[in-house]
Amino acid sequence: MAHTCEGIVVHCMDFRLQKYLNDWCEQTMGSGNYDRVSIAGAVYDADLVLKHVALSHRLHHIRRVVLINHEDCGAYGEAGTYERHKADLARVQGMIQALLPHVQVEKYYLHLDGTFERVDEP
Ligand SMILES: [Zn+2]
Repeated sequence: MAHTCEGIVVHCMDFRLQKYLNDWCEQTMGSGNYDRVSIAGAVYDADLVLKHVALSHRLHHIRRVVLINHEDCGAYGEAGTYERHKADLARVQGMIQALLPHVQVEKYYLHLDGTFERVDEP
């Protein structure tokens, strides 16, 4: 049976953020209306993200992709500067848009205090 949802959210597995992410996803995406991927570093492994987004699009016909990297991410370690997160988010956004031009991609940088910062192009 065909079934669809609004979009997919990709975020880090870090336990410190899950409460913020739970609340934000429910409010922003609509309850029970999104696929959700929780992996170390969020977009750190671009190929893994692409695989999930492509599958979500094929199976659930998503129209929206939300990428959320965060402050003090252990997967990045010392390399995880604000600029690096922004660059990685932009790179993965470009890859998704090349693959799925009709899908909207949103990028966020999540602070440890739970603030979601919308990240625009560098
Ligand atoms: Zn992390």
